[in-house]
Amino acid sequence: MSKLNVTLWNEFRHEKSHKEVQDVYPNGLHYAIGEGLAGDAELSLRYASLDEPEHGLTDEVLNSTDVLVWWGHMAHDEVKDEIVDKVVKRVWAGMGLVVLHSGHFSKPFKRLMGTDCALRWREAEDIERLWCVNPAHPIAQGLPDVITVGKEEMYGEYFGIPEPDELVYISWFTGGEVFRSGCCWHRGMGKVFYFRPGHETYPTYFNPQVRQIIQNGIHWAAPTPVSQFTRYVNKPTPPAVDAK
Ligand code: ZN
Repeated sequence: MSKLNVTLWNEFRHEKSHKEVQDVYPNGLHYAIGEGLAGDAELSLRYASLDEPEHGLTDEVLNSTDVLVWWGHMAHDEVKDEIVDKVVKRVWAGMGLVVLHSGHFSKPFKRLMGTDCALRWREAEDIERLWCVNPAHPIAQGLPDVITVGKEEMYGEYFGIPEPDELVYISWFTGGEVFRSGCCWHRGMGKVFYFRPGHETYPTYFNPQVRQIIQNGIHWAAPTPVSQFTRYVNKPTPPAVDAK
């Protein structure tokens, strides 16, 4: 069986400019996410970041990516629109997209959602718990019904997203807020999974259960085979003929 090609994209700026982030993720948080996936023999991992030419997302990389994982925050605006166009078109054609944490404001996610994707937030060392609201969903497999993520930034409702096609997790925070934290959508022939935890100053991407959800999310978002279809036909399709 051929492997699933996963590209882990990180803006990779906080790690270079903020010591407290560097201390948590010295190699960049994309490598911490990758470390959590390293035991999965079905995945082939690649890494890409904003400051590489074409943000590391050349046609060759994008066209051979089955699932793209996206983390961005301080430099969403620096992502070139021509690259965003290509990412969105790849999703429509079947590529999976896993958007993490502050990626809720990334250009590809906002484009695919068509809404403002805004939310309520606070950095005050809340504790976050993830409650599973869809235990039969593939993304929840192998996990308990409640997960304590630990200290995290708070994201609260209202989250300006279209109604998820499937909702898998809701977060609760010590401040009392709740948030739709694990959301799935179908866009064209592709799938999008948004997963909330992962503020850059907390070691969230070392949490084994968070890693498991990301791994499950990648498998869920993997492309499914697409039947042949035709867009333009210059003659009407003949009526079905009874073959007996
Ligand atoms: Zn954050």
